[in-house]
Order: sequence, then structure tokens, then C-alpha cells
Amino acid sequence: MPELQRRILLVEDEESLILTLRDRFESEGYAVTVQSDGESALAAGTRSPFDLIVLDVALPKKNGFDVCRDLRQRGIQTPILMLTARGQVVDRVVGLKLGADDYLTKPFEMMELLARVEALLRRSRTMAANASDSFAFGPVHVDFRSAEVRREGAPVELSTLEIKLLRYFVEHRGAVVGRDELLDKVWGYDATPVTRTVDVHVASLRQKLEANPSKPEYIVTVHGLGYKFTG
Ligand code: CA
Repeated sequence: MPELQRRILLVEDEESLILTLRDRFESEGYAVTVQSDGESALAAGTRSPFDLIVLDVALPKKNGFDVCRDLRQRGIQTPILMLTARGQVVDRVVGLKLGADDYLTKPFEMMELLARVEALLRRSRTMAANASDSFAFGPVHVDFRSAEVRREGAPVELSTLEIKLLRYFVEHRGAVVGRDELLDKVWGYDATPVTRTVDVHVASLRQKLEANPSKPEYIVTVHGLGYKFTG
């Protein structure tokens, strides 16, 4: 199976560094999206699933620490590598406390950055691989290989489509997934069928898995955008 191209969100406001990093990441085979202020970075990181976020601390509009904290508060679990200024030891500690996974002090060697990036991606890939066999959230335990779902230990019957939908949510947990995306990836439609189909199946999943389906805790609605799985 060919490996999917890894997507990196690069958040940096220094033109020359953006050029250098983008070039280098792309030549390593990564797909790169650049945002150069904190607010756009937060929006992009919330909206689309990335495999890694490289996040500068000193940014216009919203600094990297705040972006990191807000992403984590929104349930986004994408690995974050923070770029801190030289000698700011306190910054590193703050960054890790706010949910960053690693940090690198500027100026850095390109090889060092690439090594850190690869290490973080490897780590998250291992986590994703584990999640693909079985996954637990709250009182729910799912074994995707045997398609067995239990809630508080009791078996729950899910249709094949519901299992597929749940799997897609689990694999994209923390990211907002739109109805069109779900139709495309779970149902496999090319055309634009009724997105209401998605809502019906999501409602059914909630009915089976959520303690209070009208106030879902795990499969939440993101108004105007779609859904987000927060398990
Ligand atoms: Ca900066």
C-alpha cells in the first residue's frame, strides 16, 4: 500500500524561513500548507486534519502558545512542534505544558528539524495504527477487526455503514469533518447526494453510543461545518 503524503501545517511569519522550510519539506515529500499569523493558523488547524503542525511562537495576531492551547482546547490532537526563540527556557516549558509535543530553538539546523518532524510523525503513525484495531472512548469499546462494539460491557449492534462511519470519525478524531467529506469517504459517492443521509446515520450512531443522544458528548455537531469526534 503506497504511503499517504503527510500534511504539514507550517505556521511562520518570517518570509525567508517560510521559503526555506517549505522547499525543504516539499523535497522530502510532505504536502505543506503555510499560515503566517496565529488566527489563520488556529482556523486552518481546526478545519483540516494535518499530520503535524510546525508552530512558531512569535506570530502576529495570536502567539504560538495561545494557538497551541486553543487547538488542544478544541480537541485537536495533531502533534505540534514549536519553534521558540534562542535561550527562552521558560518558553519551552510553557509550550510543553500547553500541549506541544516537542520544541526546537531558533536558529536550528535543518537536519535537526527534519529529524524531529520524522520522529513525531512516526509516533503519531504508531498511535493511528493502534487505533485502527480497537478504540475506546468513555464507556464504549470498539474492535474494528471483529466489528464488535460494546457499551458499558453490553454488545451494541452497528450496521456495516455505521462501523465505517465510526471508524472514519475515530481516524479523524479532533478534526471537523464535513458532510460532503463523509459522503465521499464513507459512502463513496462521487455526485452530490442528500447530505441529510449523513445526519440520519450520525443520529443513529449517537442513539446507540451516547449516554444522552440529544446532548452528544463524543460525536458533536460543529454548526455550519459538520461533525467532530472528540473521543
Ligand atoms: Ca516569528
